Amino acid sequence: MAAGAQPAKGSGRAQSVVLELCTVRRTHLLDITALVNRAVADSCVFEGVCHMFVPHTTAGIVINESADPDVARDIESTLERLVPHDANYKHAEGNSDAHVKSALVGVSLSVPIEDGVVALGRWQGIFFCEFDGPRPRKVRLRIVPDPA
Ligand code: ZN
Repeated sequence: MAAGAQPAKGSGRAQSVVLELCTVRRTHLLDITALVNRAVADSCVFEGVCHMFVPHTTAGIVINESADPDVARDIESTLERLVPHDANYKHAEGNSDAHVKSALVGVSLSVPIEDGVVALGRWQGIFFCEFDGPRPRKVRLRIVPDPA
């Protein structure tokens, strides 16, 4: 393919993308739906799967309602209440609550790609879940087209 040429629709190849994020609170659900859709658009994959992986032990990723931002805040406050920062933890680093929250939420998701965007439900968004911020973070994407 000539330099600068775009692949034809539907001919995209599997691609890896790293999203670079900055969280701004210790516990912070950050809506990354637009960033993921931008990466999918740039990949020229129109039908396939977008795998998302968080390479951190005190963060996670989840899909939930993005239409009302209070839902993400309620998830943050509920996780903080369920897993308090200061409890009788053994881990000396002082962030065991963040490790536990990461384990509860999980660090990977896969979402179908349809018509060049992630095929979320009407009210859904993709949230990076920070539990030991604020700090810079990464999300690894693997964007895989359906077989031709
Ligand atoms: Zn730790």
